[in-house]
Amino acid sequence: MENVIVIGTGCAGWTAAIYTARANLSPLVIAGEQIGGQLTTTTEVENFPGFPEGVMGPDLMMKMQQQAEKFGTRVQYDRVDGISKIEGGFKLQTMSGTDYETKTVIIATGASPRHLGLPNEKELIGHGLTSCATCDGAFYPDVPVAVIGGGDSAAEEANFLTRFASKVYLVHRRDELRASKIMSDRVLANPKIEPLWNSQVAEYITDDQGEMTSIALTNTQDGSRSQREVKCVFVAIGHIPNTSFLAGTGVDLDSNGYILQKSGTQTSVEGIFAAGDVADHVYRQAITAAGNGCQAALDAERYLAESE
Ligand code: NAP
Repeated sequence: MENVIVIGTGCAGWTAAIYTARANLSPLVIAGEQIGGQLTTTTEVENFPGFPEGVMGPDLMMKMQQQAEKFGTRVQYDRVDGISKIEGGFKLQTMSGTDYETKTVIIATGASPRHLGLPNEKELIGHGLTSCATCDGAFYPDVPVAVIGGGDSAAEEANFLTRFASKVYLVHRRDELRASKIMSDRVLANPKIEPLWNSQVAEYITDDQGEMTSIALTNTQDGSRSQREVKCVFVAIGHIPNTSFLAGTGVDLDSNGYILQKSGTQTSVEGIFAAGDVADHVYRQAITAAGNGCQAALDAERYLAESE
């Protein structure tokens, strides 16, 4: 039986692995489907301490993995589909069919991008609908695109996309951005970005091949309709915590599906800890996720010491 299994490979997961590995607990990390988590879909990270010149998100995550492996962390490239209680710990069921037994679990599965819920959304992903400007922005040179949202993510994506697109519409349902002042100022000063205030996307319109051609918009104030030609829509309207695999485990979630931390990083099930965006809808920063991963590692270490 393992001492600790860390589920997830974002900032929280790798930090939990570094700390439990350096505590000689020989952690096993189950990587999940998006190895490296959300930072692998961003460009430059300017606010992670220790990098005055900034650092590319994927590079930072690769370095975290190297640091965890240097101290003996083992990694399985698999996805956890369920957790059940067994004598002395837990059994984790995975997509590959392999079961793992462990005394403690640190859940660091993060959160996934939210979509609007429009009818043809699933078919359009990869055909002009995405939530990753870093991944897909360069595919749309010299054409108009749209970003949906008014937070830091939307502001960052809109600014980044001006490197490629002829024009970037920023579609926001209110008349002011939620983004931080520095990000909002950059957006509003960028001549290639046109904010469309009080606007909701009502429809994604496609050609015969199913590629995005335009968006139909509804004005949230007067209900009027309009349309804009765009070749790609970048959705940046927040995230959904990755907790569906916890059904039936007894791990308490809040009404939005985020894990509730009862004491420190301890969940409602003793021996199961949670860290990072899967349990945090307030701060959601790389550095806070990393800090929380450290806390979960220390909590798991103490729990193991006390149960021996
Ligand atoms: P967010 O701050 O929650 O913003 C989500 C945006 O999407 C809001 O403007 C919201 O509108 C809009 N929205 C939500 N549901 C919608 C819907 N159904 N239809 C239309 N619009 C919808 O999410 P985020 O931008 O992803 O940021 C998350 C956290 O990460 C924040 O703490 C942020 O500061 C941080 N972050 C930081 C950086 C950075 O510092 N470099 C970069 C990215 C993110 P309303 O405003 O009307 O609610």
